[in-house]
Amino acid sequence: MIPPIASRFVAGETPATAFDHVRRANEDGVKVIFNLLGEHYHERADADTDAEAYVSLVRDVADTDLDACLSVKPSQLGIDIGDDVFRENFRRIVEAADEHGVFVWCDMEDADTTDVTLDAFEELAREFDGGVGQCVQANLRRTREDLDRLADVPGKLRLVKGAYDEPESIAYTEKADVNEAYREDLEFLFGERDGGIAVGSHDPAMIAYAEELAAEYGADYEVQMLMGVREDEQRRLAADGVEVWQYAPYGDKWLSYFYRRVRERKENALFALRAVVGV
Ligand code: FAD
Repeated sequence: MIPPIASRFVAGETPATAFDHVRRANEDGVKVIFNLLGEHYHERADADTDAEAYVSLVRDVADTDLDACLSVKPSQLGIDIGDDVFRENFRRIVEAADEHGVFVWCDMEDADTTDVTLDAFEELAREFDGGVGQCVQANLRRTREDLDRLADVPGKLRLVKGAYDEPESIAYTEKADVNEAYREDLEFLFGERDGGIAVGSHDPAMIAYAEELAAEYGADYEVQMLMGVREDEQRRLAADGVEVWQYAPYGDKWLSYFYRRVRERKENALFALRAVVGV
């Protein structure tokens, strides 16, 4: 059972608890992206088990009238075992999602996996006419070229700053440079695409810039934030008419995800400490 301290960031251990969370978020106008926690599998059986869990999640989502979709991780679907394992599992989920009308996102992990992930996304997004979305990372120097390549691919693109430490040779490592790249990539996306643009950021400056660009270019966009982070702002934006999606992880592998959230920001660490000492 997940302790209350972690339940700010994780929507329970089972699909049932995660669905309760979606219901509450939807009541506030916030849509939910499910993510079953799990990554870096080295056994094919583990990757196949999670792919099967996503296929049943697709059916469960389709049986409700909830605003929900899902996001998978390449290493959860077996990319560390073999590119073909990842591609087969990804395809299996997208086929089920296409049959049931559920949208599937693919997270982006470390830079060694970028090529295979983008190839798989492009193939499936073209074949299933846009039922798939891909995360791209502004900290990677290559991303502008990738966005160029993906400009006419159907589906959606989620722009994030990038969560993985990458070497200077392939990535911007200074915060200011990442922010500048994020703005440039965002402008490129609004200039090139009619819609399907997701702003995956909690940064008020990036969200305000997206609003400006949307007014200038007239393209549709959505804002995506993590469960437990700036949730008041998520509700406020939704009430203002912005399409807001909250990325909500669930599952029994919650501990390392929770520590990552606590480590990345002082406010989250203070929140955890307050919960422990009860103030
Ligand atoms: P930061 O640059 O961390 O912060 C900028 C400003 O945002 C802060 O100054 C503050 O004003 C505000 N802010 C940020 N966090 C908080 C907080 N906790 N509380 C209050 N204010 C805050 N990364 C990947 O590499 N691959 C992925 O697939 C991926 N998927 C993601 C999906 C979603 C929906 C989101 C939101 C992020 C994802 N990320 C992913 C993580 C992303 O790359 C960043 O590491 C992370 O979002 C932090 O960057 P930021 O843009 O939110 O803001």
